[in-house]
Amino acid sequence: MDAMPFDTTPVLVAGHWRATAATLPLFNPSTGAELARIARGGAAEVDAAVQAAQAALDGEWGALTAAERGRLLTRIGALVLERADELARLEALDVGKPLKQARADAVALARYLEFYGGAADKVHGETIPFANGYTAFTLREPHGVTAHIVPWNYPMQIIGRSVGAALAMGNACVLKPAEEACLSAIAFARIATEAGLPAGALNLVPGLGEEAGAALSSHPGVRHISFTGSVGVGALIQAAAAKNAVPVTLELGGKSPQIVFADADLDAALPFLVNAGIQNAGQTCSAASRILVERPVYDAVLERMAERYRALRVGPALDDLDVGPLISQRQRETVEGYLGLVEGSALRVAARAALPAGLPRGGYYVAPTLLADVDPGHRLAQEEIFGPVQAVTAFEGEAEALRIANGTAFGLVAGVWTRDGGRSLRMARKLQCGQVFVNNYGAGGGIELPFGGVKHSGHGREKGFEALYGFSVLKTVAIRHE
Ligand code: NAD
Repeated sequence: MDAMPFDTTPVLVAGHWRATAATLPLFNPSTGAELARIARGGAAEVDAAVQAAQAALDGEWGALTAAERGRLLTRIGALVLERADELARLEALDVGKPLKQARADAVALARYLEFYGGAADKVHGETIPFANGYTAFTLREPHGVTAHIVPWNYPMQIIGRSVGAALAMGNACVLKPAEEACLSAIAFARIATEAGLPAGALNLVPGLGEEAGAALSSHPGVRHISFTGSVGVGALIQAAAAKNAVPVTLELGGKSPQIVFADADLDAALPFLVNAGIQNAGQTCSAASRILVERPVYDAVLERMAERYRALRVGPALDDLDVGPLISQRQRETVEGYLGLVEGSALRVAARAALPAGLPRGGYYVAPTLLADVDPGHRLAQEEIFGPVQAVTAFEGEAEALRIANGTAFGLVAGVWTRDGGRSLRMARKLQCGQVFVNNYGAGGGIELPFGGVKHSGHGREKGFEALYGFSVLKTVAIRHE
């Protein structure tokens, strides 16, 4: 068992770390061994956390100026950056992602805090030309207590984009990390406390979704919920929020396509096509799990992707190879279930990476698999697999590309590869999703770029400046003065 540099069992409420009677095990996905035990917070801890957040709003935290909040966030970001290696190691152990990818997440967390630290005092209302004898203007105010329910796949990035933006706008947060991976959330809360964030501005309640998560999403003291996770739980959260008439931001799943036209620069496209499918072992909401290729270059693209797949190195997170294990045995079984659909079907496996002998026996490894000629209506081209599996499909012309790309229940991200400027604009306009990337995919994480989905991928926007509007309430003031 790897030693943890801190006690992982308490919850953080009002600046105090408290133990819970019950704990939950965390497993190291690379080995299957127990890694740590975490607090199993429930309704009582959630209630205390919401009250602490409200007290912070009524006290020291609520009295800070926007510039002071920004300075604090910037300081937390600087500490995160200083400790990026330490945070990356924790995340690699906890999530199973290769060390380099975990380090990129730690740096992204620092970037979110820098970005929202800098933005905190730059959001303001407007004056409105109105009737004679009046002055009318708008104010941007915090919601109050905000809930942040995050998944296990990118804890640091998701905490950065949601808690960072919420704190910048003066909200007080209750963070519920995922039960499968929450070490970086605990480490982040410690860093924020050390940086001088006033007590109660950030509270942390680890625990199970159906216990701590459900208690938080239905708590009447919560005024905004930011949820990232599965479509099914997103619907539960929205229903719970509806009872309290609370706004929600839902960042749900995806089945995002990258569309390669015959005129594309294939050398430029190739690394993006594969990386966006296997990064974090495919457990990425914006994974490019569908690759649509125009017929004249279909065989060439497929063969080059297959070559890359055959060369992928799979292994424990700390070995820092291309692909690590999945998060859990359950996730592995889900992905293997999808791969089982290939056996005895007309589907073609274009390539499968080898799982090396000597992988830790208890680890949750799955061989990255590239599927060819996948019918757009097939479950493998429709459902989110959340593993290192990509489905490649041929198309002819823009209209068919659009029909296939838009033909799932999801709409998160899309990539378009073409040298034709007009086509890139036509596609960008007609793709049904929240982000379109032309001749790139993901823009290196794009902290500054608003992000979110349409259809079953969710609603509301996080990241970029736009998130600050979501984490604030617009108040209109009209003063009659003759
Ligand atoms: P999940 O929905 O099971 O869990 C996400 C979070 O919700 C966890 O913290 C969990 O404890 C909590 N939760 C579970 N049940 C709950 C309940 N009844 N009430 C309140 N909270 C509850 O999702 P997951 O399996 O952890 O994550 C994978 C999914 O998340 C995938 O579908 C993926 O696409 C999606 N995801 C989306 C984004 C995005 O930004 N769009 C990012 C990452 C992951």
